[in-house]
Amino acid sequence: MMTTILKIGGNVLNQPVQLADALDYFSTLKGPAILVHGGGRKASEVITAMGHRPLMVDGRRITDEPTLEIVTMVYAGLINKKIVAFLQQRNTNAIGLSGADGNAIIAHKRPVGTIDYGFAGDVDRVDAALLSGLLSLGLSPVLCSITHDEQGQLLNTNADTIANATAVALASLPQTVSLQYCFEFPGVMLDISDPSSAIKALTPAKYQELKKQGAIAGGMIPKLDNAFAALDKGVHEVVIGDLTTLRNGQGTHCRKGA
Ligand code: ADP
Repeated sequence: MMTTILKIGGNVLNQPVQLADALDYFSTLKGPAILVHGGGRKASEVITAMGHRPLMVDGRRITDEPTLEIVTMVYAGLINKKIVAFLQQRNTNAIGLSGADGNAIIAHKRPVGTIDYGFAGDVDRVDAALLSGLLSLGLSPVLCSITHDEQGQLLNTNADTIANATAVALASLPQTVSLQYCFEFPGVMLDISDPSSAIKALTPAKYQELKKQGAIAGGMIPKLDNAFAALDKGVHEVVIGDLTTLRNGQGTHCRKGA
């Protein structure tokens, strides 16, 4: 049986209708499934409302202490619990977890380089046995993007990275894992302004070529770097698309090899 890891993107989380649609899709998946979410726009709204300024460098959040407190409240609290409650209504017995809960995801604070990302976590370990145990009880874990370092420090962690590390950890059990990234486009596109240009299958060679041409940029680059690494580490498939394409088994399928 295939285990699905579904990561829902920021722009899907921001739109209540799209979010409901994504959770509907998750609740109808056959077989064990794990949901991974970040926080979308809400965290920045609360940061501003509490009199702080959202700190970003190149589209990545800098997590100072007040920011860490707020993202923990928003991601591990409000958003995670709203998602869990929605899934219960759809008869999916979801259990919301941060990385600290059950010691599910251990990370370390990103070392300070040219940029100090503050309390940003880089993932060291995902407890696949714990997640698999929950799945075997009929529970669907809903992971938010907050982890910890086992020294009492919570860390803000990229949701794509969590999805990826979770997929790799489950694959090593071993389990057959489908890693699905749900965002607002039908897939990785040759031309970002033309949704009909979404690619059906992407190989590492084609990816490098499109990256060089500038056709693939921004958040899609770390997503794809991690996707190909996950395939090399035993994840069965990585699919990137919107809800319609994912539902139809379409979207961009990342493929191993040249
Ligand atoms: P999310 O949280 O939704 O996963 P990311 O910013 O991590 O968002 O990655 C998705 C983004 O990648 C898209 O919103 C899009 O702006 C950008 N992107 C860059 N190049 C492409 C491309 N060729 N096809 C699709 N998306 C692309």
